[in-house]
Amino acid sequence: MLAMVTRDVVVVGGGPAGATAAADLARAGKDVVLLDKAGRIKPCGGAIPPRLIRDFQIPDGLLVAKITSARMVAPSEKRVDMPIDDGFVGMVDRGMFDEWLRGRAAAAGAERQSGSFLRLERDRDGTAIVVYHPKDAPDGTEARLRTRLVIGADGANSAVARQALPGVEAPFVFAYHEIIRAPAPQTGADMDGRRCDVYYQGRHSPDFYAWVFPHGDTVSVGTGSAVKGYSLRKSIADLRDRAGLAGCETIRKEGAPIPMRPLKRWDNGLDVLLAGDAAGVVAPASGEGIYYAMVGGRLAAEAGVAFLETGRAAELAQARKRFLKAHGRVFWVLGLMQRFWYGSDKRRERFVSMCRDRDVQKLTWDAYMNKELVRAKPVAHVRIFFKDLAHLFGLVPP
Ligand SMILES: Cc1cc2nc3c(=O)[nH]c(=O)nc-3n(C[C@H](O)[C@H](O)[C@H](O)COP(=O)(O)OP(=O)(O)OC[C@H]3O[C@@H](n4cnc5c(N)ncnc54)[C@H](O)[C@@H]3O)c2cc1C
Repeated sequence: MLAMVTRDVVVVGGGPAGATAAADLARAGKDVVLLDKAGRIKPCGGAIPPRLIRDFQIPDGLLVAKITSARMVAPSEKRVDMPIDDGFVGMVDRGMFDEWLRGRAAAAGAERQSGSFLRLERDRDGTAIVVYHPKDAPDGTEARLRTRLVIGADGANSAVARQALPGVEAPFVFAYHEIIRAPAPQTGADMDGRRCDVYYQGRHSPDFYAWVFPHGDTVSVGTGSAVKGYSLRKSIADLRDRAGLAGCETIRKEGAPIPMRPLKRWDNGLDVLLAGDAAGVVAPASGEGIYYAMVGGRLAAEAGVAFLETGRAAELAQARKRFLKAHGRVFWVLGLMQRFWYGSDKRRERFVSMCRDRDVQKLTWDAYMNKELVRAKPVAHVRIFFKDLAHLFGLVPP
């Protein structure tokens, strides 16, 4: 029998996290296989911040829309518009975007394989073997890749995580959306192709929010909730009705879990490292995960290179440490925000009312667009803190 070649890395999952990890590892000269199921478009609102576009060199042609404001809708139907003073939020179509990222990884030297990860096995000497079912092969066909490192970037339902880090789990919000054909302007639908609408209303989600995100020719209308039994489909039917979008052609109806907390461990202390949704890194309150998945992929690649070059498994833990150092505080604040402000319609009403404040708008956009808590304006922070308190104690009318 021929001895199996040992690859440096097998990345399981070719979404934003896996494709980024594979591209970076290939650029670092490592022998990488990128294994992806292929064939299913990830359900996603597709909003990405300028920081992502800059840091990961996303070409303008991949943006199907550029958003210049958000509209927050309160339980009372009051609307607050939050214009972006300088810049825009990019919208991507995940079918095109993910395929482009995988193509970039291949151009950097990663070998692409299409198939479904089945399980991890161990060679006699303990080396990992990734077993998968190649796409389009007859049922029961198995292929094997022997590798020094496995990066599990196979999304929120990660089979790699379940097997390599059993019992390490995160809570979920379940999100559902419908991709519909964009309405013609004269139909009078309550939406705008350059604006994201965010509905903070208990009738559309008891613990998250609902959205209408324009994607050029199409629109994503969605919602999320962690409450068992809550009907996301009914919520969206109702929202489409109210926004004048009920008559638009429905192209896809789909849903997926969104993890709400980074996992306590991302590596198995040996040769498996998780990235992206598989590691639980989606921002609470907003559900934003594409940027964090790509950062996670990049950090996994850096930790992977250090591991491959030194043989020290402890290097793998650096990915999580460095991620939390950069983004842990923002995640913590957003987690608190979600627990408090999304708790009841009374609080949602105050939350939306707070967004009328120009300081709040500026800080929110700065934080979202650039992924940094803005430190330059301590006076504005203090002002917002006191305004926050005033809203909290009901001293300001909603
Ligand atoms: C409805 C909805 C709306 C969202 N809207 C936004 C938004 O507007 N902006 C934003 O930033 N985030 C949004 N998110 C979150 C965002 O989609 C995710 O955080 C992001 O896709 C995570 O990237 P990832 O690479 O970690 O995982 P994924 O994008 O899930 O990619 C995982 C990849 O692994 C592959 N895979 C899975 N299992 C296997 C297997 N067994 N074998 C081989 N391959 C496998 C899949 O084919 C896929 O390509 C939304 C999520 C949902 C559900």
